[in-house]
Amino acid sequence: MAGRGTDAPAIGIDLGTTYSCVAVWKHDRIEIIPNDQGNRTTPSHVAFVDAQRLIGDGAKNQAPMNPANTIFDAKRLIGRRFSDSKVQGDMKLWPFKVIQGPADTPKIVVTYNGQEKEFLAEEISAMILGKMKETAEGYLGKTVKDAVITVPAYFNDSQRQATKDAGTIAGLNVIRMINEPTAAAIAYGLDNKTDIVGKINVLVFDLGGGTFDVSLMTIEEGGSFEVKAVTGNTHLGGEDFDNRMVDHCVREFKRRWNKDLTGNQRALGRLRFACEKAKRILSCTTQTSIELDCLHEGIDFSLKFTRAKFEDLNMDSFNSCIETLETCLSDAKMKKSCVDQVILVGGSTRIPKVQHMLQEYFDGRELSKSVNADEAVAYGAAVLAAKVSGCSDKSVQEVVLHDVTPLSLGISMLGDVYDVVISRNTRIPTSNSKSYVTTFDNQSVVGIHVYQGERSKSTDNHFLGNFSISGLPPAPKGMSSVMLCFEIDANGILTVTAAIVSTGKMEKLVISNENGRLTKEEIEKMVSDAERYKLEDQEFKKKADAYNALEDCLYKLKNKLKDYNIKTRVLPETLKEMETVIAKTTKWLEYNQAAPFAELHLMKVHLEFVCKPLL
Ligand code: ADP
Ligand code: MG
Repeated sequence: MAGRGTDAPAIGIDLGTTYSCVAVWKHDRIEIIPNDQGNRTTPSHVAFVDAQRLIGDGAKNQAPMNPANTIFDAKRLIGRRFSDSKVQGDMKLWPFKVIQGPADTPKIVVTYNGQEKEFLAEEISAMILGKMKETAEGYLGKTVKDAVITVPAYFNDSQRQATKDAGTIAGLNVIRMINEPTAAAIAYGLDNKTDIVGKINVLVFDLGGGTFDVSLMTIEEGGSFEVKAVTGNTHLGGEDFDNRMVDHCVREFKRRWNKDLTGNQRALGRLRFACEKAKRILSCTTQTSIELDCLHEGIDFSLKFTRAKFEDLNMDSFNSCIETLETCLSDAKMKKSCVDQVILVGGSTRIPKVQHMLQEYFDGRELSKSVNADEAVAYGAAVLAAKVSGCSDKSVQEVVLHDVTPLSLGISMLGDVYDVVISRNTRIPTSNSKSYVTTFDNQSVVGIHVYQGERSKSTDNHFLGNFSISGLPPAPKGMSSVMLCFEIDANGILTVTAAIVSTGKMEKLVISNENGRLTKEEIEKMVSDAERYKLEDQEFKKKADAYNALEDCLYKLKNKLKDYNIKTRVLPETLKEMETVIAKTTKWLEYNQAAPFAELHLMKVHLEFVCKPLL
């Protein structure tokens, strides 16, 4: 990126499970930035092919041919432990390998450059973020540094922290993180500015590829957005609908041919691709078919799929979406009749049954499709990016956000009892302090285990981290106390501090790597690794370009030789020499496909020198 200025505006990135999108405030409005293929959303796929790394469309397009080395769904791994039941379940369906790393962190194993390599979900997400950054840089002609990244509203603290780390690894300065439905609401609010009079209640229903969020908020005339309640499921979306279809096909194959294709990754990859396509078709027609030649052991597979079958396979998921929606309304203590607008976001809201059930729930009310389901989240993120970085536009500056924390936060007390310090749906940023007394005589150390969730048994919740504070003066039990302060910043990220009341000694929660968090050193190493991969990509491209240039030159010369005109003053022996060198180079190229750049370049220089009269 030599020669580029560093004054690029801050960008907004929607880092989706299946698709990502980047936007920026330019020319007094939000621009969604198309990628190098001209697409406004980019598949969140990364593939390793021999010595080449592909990110986005290139990676997704070759997925059925290269299932073991094409990584997707990193967002379903990020901030989770290997032993998480969701990870274990997903692993059965992923064609790539995931292993248990230190401290129960999942690691993705691929073959790259002929070697086995392990990546954390943060690193794969960083590659996608890096691609979005490059897309923006290409469009703006400047180096991009600052970004707002979106996360599902229902992400817990670990998932948020890990996403932020991914941004750092990608070389981004994450100025803010924003919940996806809140970002979509900003897009709606700005687009419908003139229609919003007074205060309206909007419900954002965001069903994407991997996650489901419901947010209830009020938008006030003038640009104030206040979230009342959020609910969701960080493991529900289009991917699950695809999986159900794949399962159905596998069963059908077994029934017809009595053969099990679950061990055949290539067949599963092809099926997954075909099912996703069929699912989209079923959103506009009521019937389609899946046709795959030579799917398994030479058997062709063909299956008619109806919309009714698709709905039947996924009815439990659709029902659970409605249940989640009900929880959100009851958390916000709002009757459904008080909801003024229902906004659809995320690719899976195109499913007719989803729309139908939602409309039925709201007693036939029209659903708002005024925001672009694929782009609204990035749009809102870019508005916030412009605001945080000081854009002077009035409509941007007027935006005021009040978000909430999606899950309760607390500590574990004696007997695995969970004690909530900050309850869910509390407006953020926020802080709360609580004091806890010692549980035995002369206790000098207090261990603090922090959890996030709604269950009454601590260990049924998500464990975030632990630390301890020592140096309590000797005293009978119950007589010495520790003051705990929980603070959530505007990004929804938590810091816990503990202080001994009598002495004033303080400790801060630093979630160590044993708990799955990355240390500063690890992040630094990953940043330099990411830069190295980028250089390797550039090297690879240089070599591929040199190869193409030599091959192109050979074709040109062969054609020229064919049309060779006797009138040209080239001596027959020179012609002979040219013929020989063209033939030799062609042969050489055939046997030296992996030659380094310098050799390829040298061969071309030599070829052009000998064949100068022809060129
Ligand atoms: P995410 O943000 O989680 O990556 P998106 O909002 O981009 O998800 O939505 C992608 C999901 O939407 C994919 O699972 C895709 O198959 C699904 N999808 C896109 N278009 C349609 C459609 N017309 N009908 C049904 N599903 C669709
Ligand atoms: Mg999304």
